[in-house]
Amino acid sequence: MATTEQEPTGAEAPAVAFNLELNADQKDIRDWVHGFAEDVMRPAAHEWDEREETPWPIIQEAAKIGLYSFEGLAQFFADPSGLTLPIVNEELFWGDAGLGMAIMGTSLAVASIFGQGTGEQIGEWIPRCFGTPDDLKVAAFCASEPNAGSDISNVRTTAKWDEAASEWVLNGQKAWATNGGIADVHVVIASVDPTLGARGHAAFIVPLSEAKGIEQGSKVSKHGLRASHTADVHLDDCRIPAGHVLGGKEKLDERLARVREGKRTKSQTAMQTFEASRPTVGAQAVGIARAAYEYALDYAKEREQFGRKIIENQAIAFALADMKLEIDASRLLVWRASWMGRTGHKFENAEGSMSKLKAGEVATWATERAMHILGGNGYTREYPVERWHRDAKIYTIFEGTSEIQRMVIARAISGVQIR
Ligand SMILES: Cc1cc2nc3c(=O)[nH]c(=O)nc-3n(C[C@H](O)[C@H](O)[C@H](O)COP(=O)(O)OP(=O)(O)OC[C@H]3O[C@@H](n4cnc5c(N)ncnc54)[C@H](O)[C@@H]3O)c2cc1C
Repeated sequence: MATTEQEPTGAEAPAVAFNLELNADQKDIRDWVHGFAEDVMRPAAHEWDEREETPWPIIQEAAKIGLYSFEGLAQFFADPSGLTLPIVNEELFWGDAGLGMAIMGTSLAVASIFGQGTGEQIGEWIPRCFGTPDDLKVAAFCASEPNAGSDISNVRTTAKWDEAASEWVLNGQKAWATNGGIADVHVVIASVDPTLGARGHAAFIVPLSEAKGIEQGSKVSKHGLRASHTADVHLDDCRIPAGHVLGGKEKLDERLARVREGKRTKSQTAMQTFEASRPTVGAQAVGIARAAYEYALDYAKEREQFGRKIIENQAIAFALADMKLEIDASRLLVWRASWMGRTGHKFENAEGSMSKLKAGEVATWATERAMHILGGNGYTREYPVERWHRDAKIYTIFEGTSEIQRMVIARAISGVQIR
């Protein structure tokens, strides 16, 4: 990235257009979230990982201070540089990834409503995704299905329009939904016209408390992120009002008509949400990697073997140097993509995918290195590093696996339909 310095004016420091120094607001928010991560999340992380349950008391603590709220998320998003949202995510996931996902899992549904909803839908549904500290709610984004993971165009859940009742009727099974079945608001990706593949998809709001025919299927028992609830969701003749399609029915009809005429439309419904959220997901992976790196660095400076600290061995010191290097490189890619997304720069070279790919792979690698530096202790549940390693692995799988990110990048840079 080029720096463009303006001419110095008198004794004042030159104004620079490019700057990596965080401003006072960004630093304040970072330190505030770090405090919550250190004081509330870290002490509770092991317990909730073992319990494998949604940590409602922790979400409530976050809600009480405004960290888990519509207003909080809006404030983080409002930063015109785009950096506050990844900074918040990095700190939260530095605290703990399972608890972090329990707090941030709602934001994928929020991103979908915000990105595709009408003003009225945004005003009505986003506050309901969070509830209030006394009546907490979470939200779920349900795109994946048993046979539609990487290949989201294979979604089989249908949304049929019942003209007589003026309602949508949804049928199908969603898989691996974060907060699936416990969320108040489910954003469900369904096919309105299966002949159009992903271009025939639309996003629907299904409120658990009002809609009949939606229920949780099996809860998934996981390798990591165990404090975050993941489950299948079944939709069985689930009826919702006309106005629950994001963007409105009129706009959907217009879009489908354009697709049928062979005209270009905006990218696919689920992909729009994933593109926007990838840098944020990358920031979460950076947080986990940083936690493991810091822990391993401290450990290596304390632990003695052969009469010296293990960090005095190049093998250990160089591993830590590489970890720091890769984590910082990941963060820079995340910040670049976040800045591009917020300032309206198009991801010409799939910069969002680059950030998520790099950060996910670095988190998986760095947490494994950290475990190794701790030796036998690293492999036990007495130390947090093995949990961080289990948590990190999902970052090469969800929101597009590493192979899918490489495919997206390869297509973007080449213009060739790489398979
Ligand atoms: C903890 C967790 C939380 C999740 N939360 C959500 C959620 O909230 N909402 C939601 O909708 N989904 C969610 N998911 C689903 C997640 O997004 C999918 O698991 C992911 O997209 C991968 O799909 P899949 O599991 O079907 O793997 P598959 O698509 O079956 O892939 C299996 C393997 O094949 C590779 N592969 C597939 N196609 C290609 C190709 N063309 N080229 C090269 N390699 C390929 C993949 O990279 C992977 O290694 C979650 C999953 C988990 C585990």
